[in-house]
Amino acid sequence: MKLLEYEAKDIFKKYGIPVAKGFVVKKTDCDGTGGKINSGIKECELGDEVVIKAQVEVGGRGKAGGVVICPAGDAPEKAAAMFAKDIKGVLVDTILVEEKLPITGEYYLSIALDRSKKAPVILFSAEGGVEIEETAKNNPGALHRVRVSPMLDDIPDFMMRELVRDAPKELAPVIKSLYRVFCKSDAILAEINPLVTTEKGVYAADAKIIVDDNALGRQGITLNRDLTERERLAEDLGFSYVELEGNIGVIGNGAGLTMSTLDMIEYFGGKAANFLDVGGGADRKRVCSAVKLVSGMDGVKVIVVNLLGGITRCDEVAAGIVEAGVSQQVVVRLAGTNEAEGKRILSEKGYRMLGSMEEVVKFAVEEAD
Ligand code: GDP
Ligand code: MN
Repeated sequence: MKLLEYEAKDIFKKYGIPVAKGFVVKKTDCDGTGGKINSGIKECELGDEVVIKAQVEVGGRGKAGGVVICPAGDAPEKAAAMFAKDIKGVLVDTILVEEKLPITGEYYLSIALDRSKKAPVILFSAEGGVEIEETAKNNPGALHRVRVSPMLDDIPDFMMRELVRDAPKELAPVIKSLYRVFCKSDAILAEINPLVTTEKGVYAADAKIIVDDNALGRQGITLNRDLTERERLAEDLGFSYVELEGNIGVIGNGAGLTMSTLDMIEYFGGKAANFLDVGGGADRKRVCSAVKLVSGMDGVKVIVVNLLGGITRCDEVAAGIVEAGVSQQVVVRLAGTNEAEGKRILSEKGYRMLGSMEEVVKFAVEEAD
């Protein structure tokens, strides 16, 4: 999960990475008088100029109008304008108001997980503020890259020297601290772009942390941002669930089988409404909940259930589908454990039993058309 800039900066502070003074304002806290913003600027002593930053989960906010520098007196007006905007389609409901840093240099720093090498990789570049992909393409020589053994909890000195060999040495402690942030936050990415120098020292002017979704529990982070009611329900039920825009509901067991079903729908010219993986060993109750959940989505015309019986039993699956009793047509492909019994239960209730996955998907695509 990607943390918002201010959430990432809160973590940075704990690890001693300097960030600009500032405060967070929610749209719902603003009454139109600007009181909250004016008092915040005063309390935090932000100075004559401030930066207003949209807290949205999209990159390149600066270019998209999500970062505005203005005199402190104009902040309430600029903040109101920011709340009225969307940044690349994402509505702004939170902003960060910060002091304007007197920037003398911008650098790029990130630590990411290199899956193929099974190790964190540190990228550092003296070209900050621009997207790293640009630097990699236009000026690869400016990019320093080192891999750290995952067995180490600190970056060895020789690697530090290599990284900052043509940069101010005062950046070194920030690199070390970010490495600690990366490890301790179970991050798959920790990025500072730009990492800036000023006359008062070094600062993380921006902050990005992506926490490994599998570590959210350990990190005490709850995934509740921007979830629809159905997505929240799916999470409570332990389903892997993603909403899409088509009209064919999809339920499968195992991410691979469910993805193949989506691919096949696309192949036959249909559009999937969702991805729902019920997981291993689903019993009738889970199947029933899954079918009801997908049935409740807007615009779902037909539901494809593609389940392979292993530990999962086809008769349980069939009973779950029947129990859900939804209004849309449910087309089912069942194979494996107790297949015959499952098919019997469904045929008895008038469900259409087709043979192969191709037949099932093709039929669903035609029905949904
Ligand atoms: P992003 O576009 O989403 O990556 O947002 P950033 O937080 O990186 O801000 C974009 C750009 O705004 C930065 O690269 C800086 O050049 C500029 N910027 C951000 N904060 C400050 C600041 O405090 N002072 C100055 N002078 N520029 C800033
Ligand atoms: Mn940035």
